[in-house]
Amino acid sequence: MSKPTPAAVEPFLPFALPEIGQEEIDEVVDTLRSGWLTGGPKVQAFEAAFREVTGATHAVALSSCTAGMHLALLAAGIGPGDEVITTPLTFAATVNVILHAGATPVLADVREDDYNIDIAEIERLITPRTKAVMPMHYGGQPCRMDELQSLADKHGLRVVEDAAHAIGARYRGRPIGTLSDASVFSFYPIKPITTGQGGMLTTNDAELADQVRLLSLHGLSKNAWNRYSKGGSAEYQVLAPGFNYAMTDIQAALGIHQLRKLDAFQARRTEIAGQYDALFADVPELIRPPVREEIVHAWHLYPIRFHLDRVTISRAQFIDELRERGIGTSVHFIPIHLHPYYRDALSLGPGDFPVAEKVYENLISLPIYPRMDDDAVERVATAVREIVTAHGRAGRG
Ligand SMILES: *Cc1c(COP(=O)(O)O)cnc(C)c1O
Repeated sequence: MSKPTPAAVEPFLPFALPEIGQEEIDEVVDTLRSGWLTGGPKVQAFEAAFREVTGATHAVALSSCTAGMHLALLAAGIGPGDEVITTPLTFAATVNVILHAGATPVLADVREDDYNIDIAEIERLITPRTKAVMPMHYGGQPCRMDELQSLADKHGLRVVEDAAHAIGARYRGRPIGTLSDASVFSFYPIKPITTGQGGMLTTNDAELADQVRLLSLHGLSKNAWNRYSKGGSAEYQVLAPGFNYAMTDIQAALGIHQLRKLDAFQARRTEIAGQYDALFADVPELIRPPVREEIVHAWHLYPIRFHLDRVTISRAQFIDELRERGIGTSVHFIPIHLHPYYRDALSLGPGDFPVAEKVYENLISLPIYPRMDDDAVERVATAVREIVTAHGRAGRG
């Protein structure tokens, strides 16, 4: 042999992968053959199943979580002149929908013990213009909803949850989806369950549900089912200048089976989190994801941080070294106020939300999804440990 055989090159382990089975494929094909491609029976079945899983009285299937949050704000009467308080440690969509509604986003810093919005900060920022709060359940760990709801009640604020990460999560025994005016879930491919693109709004408020449904279908008084099914009638009236935000039956076909697998998916994610926790327990350089007692976690993300004073590399180098070892990661999230658009439009900048910045500075989301087997989990943990050891300060490595 002229050269030593290189260590077997392992295939790239992506940060996230959807888990689509034969059931989903068959249901999509059945939908395509049926002729009902949107606004039909698969959407109705998915909504019914979602009501059952969350315990919510109403569920409205939509083209995305973003669309659902936009409509929830409009249906709650949020508009120009109103302020809506949300977290800086979130995805752009949470803030964009506030702007789409014509309202002003106001950011409240997060807590270090769950990376969720800090309710004391919300209280400090309430003005006579504040009309709503949009908490986001970071990584699938519910916010302190009782405290948040009592603050909202005290000030007459609406609460719309960005529950993009949180299907399957529970707060004090209650499923996310029933705890506020509206909760909105995402089915983007890397989320806990997927429909390719898609979202679901749940609420116990019949009026809000009706308004969201109306606005999702151009503001028409009748949906496709009521217009095109046997016994339907073609006449309709436009009651509001709505949007085209409905979910298709092709998406719902995926969702019906994804939702049936939710418990198994969540059990595996929870198991992986436990495996990581155990494999990192003796690595003092790392900060494992904080978990509060009172919740059931959806484990959409497994975000680690490292003590910056105990390692000699930056977060970017850490991510590069993981990539060199064939492991994909992500960062959730670059704080809103550090993006150029919001920095300029909302007159914000570095230093404004010190906890969000501190968390962000050394934050890395590791892969956590049902398709990962135990070997993959161990491979990720070993790589993380190797990097920490190689770049640790005195005393290790
Ligand atoms: C993914 C995500 C969204 C957007 O969901 P879509 O279904 O893609 O519109 C919103 N908020 C958070 C926190 C997300 O992670």
